[in-house]
Amino acid sequence: MMKVLVLNCGSSSIKYQLINMNTEAVLAIGLVEKVGMTGSFLKHEKESGEKVLFEGEILDHTAGIEYVLGVLTSEKHGCIKDLNEIDAVGHRVVHGGERFNSSVFITDEVVEEMQKCIDLAPLHNPPNLKGIEAVSALIPDVPQCGVFDTAFHQTMPEHSYMYAIPHKLYEKYGIRRYGFHGTSHRYVSERACEILGLDYRNSKLITCHLGNGGSIAAIQNGESIDTSMGFTPVEGLMMGTRCGDLDVGAVTYIMEKEQIGVRSFNTLANKHSGLLGVSGVSSDGRDIRKAAQEGNHNAKLARQMFNYRVKKYIGSYVAAMGGVDAIIFTGGIGENSVDQREDICKDFGFLGCKVDSKKNDVYGEEAIFSTDDSTVTLIVVPTNEELVIARDTIEIIKNR
Ligand code: ADP
Repeated sequence: MMKVLVLNCGSSSIKYQLINMNTEAVLAIGLVEKVGMTGSFLKHEKESGEKVLFEGEILDHTAGIEYVLGVLTSEKHGCIKDLNEIDAVGHRVVHGGERFNSSVFITDEVVEEMQKCIDLAPLHNPPNLKGIEAVSALIPDVPQCGVFDTAFHQTMPEHSYMYAIPHKLYEKYGIRRYGFHGTSHRYVSERACEILGLDYRNSKLITCHLGNGGSIAAIQNGESIDTSMGFTPVEGLMMGTRCGDLDVGAVTYIMEKEQIGVRSFNTLANKHSGLLGVSGVSSDGRDIRKAAQEGNHNAKLARQMFNYRVKKYIGSYVAAMGGVDAIIFTGGIGENSVDQREDICKDFGFLGCKVDSKKNDVYGEEAIFSTDDSTVTLIVVPTNEELVIARDTIEIIKNR
């Protein structure tokens, strides 16, 4: 039985899954939170559904991963007897720049290349690299692979990824659109084709990943040709706490009037905007729905703005591809927010696309929600980035 440990190391968290690749069953899933802070803890769940919580000091990523490996092999809560049962480790890496257009086997040279991408994602890439270092130190004989959030979008054509600013800024600093959530866009688009019997290499798809962060992608003949996130994950849709598209004229004006610098503006745009900023209620779609139902105007407005922007992006991608076969919804909101899906898609009649309200009443499961006579299919596909990371990892290991 081949087993892959999937790791997603954030600045203060470590998410993990141990997957049996013969059956693709998740043997254990969990997360470490508050790494390097007070009150660190580890939540662990076994295949049987049995859950445990461990509290204790976890000073850094190495200590966190050591803790995870300890739990995975523990007699009481574990699911493997020995660490040598782990055949490979797959890491989620946020930014692969222009260097990585697919998943890779991790070598010293690859780590060096990844370090060069740190500038592009100063918050995300360092903890990803810490995870790789920790695994190398703790279980040095286990092969590791990296799966990048940006890789899938490396197929975008130049006219889609370039910004209309002086070209030398691209040459000097790599300022261009990279796109994120690539692993999710790839998974749900492939899966939708499987379900619908479409030929992936001969299809026009729009994938809407709507979670805390959100992005949309236009996928033509199996390749991402455009996506809404850009140089950073703040471009595009309105998100939980991110503003999405914003006039740069407003950026400089706000900075001037509010007398704030780059850092504060970054916080404003990334943490205090989006659904939270507009509604003043919460960044969580469920709280906002409740507030809107209770008559809160700004909560209602936040929902309308969110849905409108998704709709607008879908329209622009239909134009970009000259049509669309299926529109795919995923992420916390895409999978569960029935009323938002309906609102986003209700005016697509001009595309020959109609929502079936009965079929749309689904939460977190694969389901077609367009009418039988709809020429464009609407479908929910819950994302599974960990599975893609594990599959890529096995594929790379096998082919070495
Ligand atoms: P992340 O981007 O952090 O992975 P998820 O994809 O899990 O997040 O999405 C989380 C978000 O999904 C939550 O912030 C919440 O707003 C939203 N969400 C989940 N269920 C619903 C629902 N039934 N209605 C509206 N929003 C929901």
